[in-house]
Amino acid sequence: MIICPECKGEMKEERTSVTLFREGQPVLFEDVPAWVCVQCGEIWLSAEAARKLDERLAGELKPRRYISMPVVAFAATS
Ligand SMILES: [Zn+2]
Repeated sequence: MIICPECKGEMKEERTSVTLFREGQPVLFEDVPAWVCVQCGEIWLSAEAARKLDERLAGELKPRRYISMPVVAFAATS
């Protein structure tokens, strides 16, 4: 069993989404294999998964689709 470094909860192997930035533009990677904490949601990528993400980010992206996303300031009041 893998233990969460944040809350000592149990981590389960799941597929998750990771957002990285390339030249200031967000790139969403889906179906990334990761360990996810069942208690606090902490995400932990294996060294191999992290290395593969870096490779994909540096290479040709071939997006499966495009999305638009809202951008919200943390301290926004309106
Ligand atoms: Zn946790």
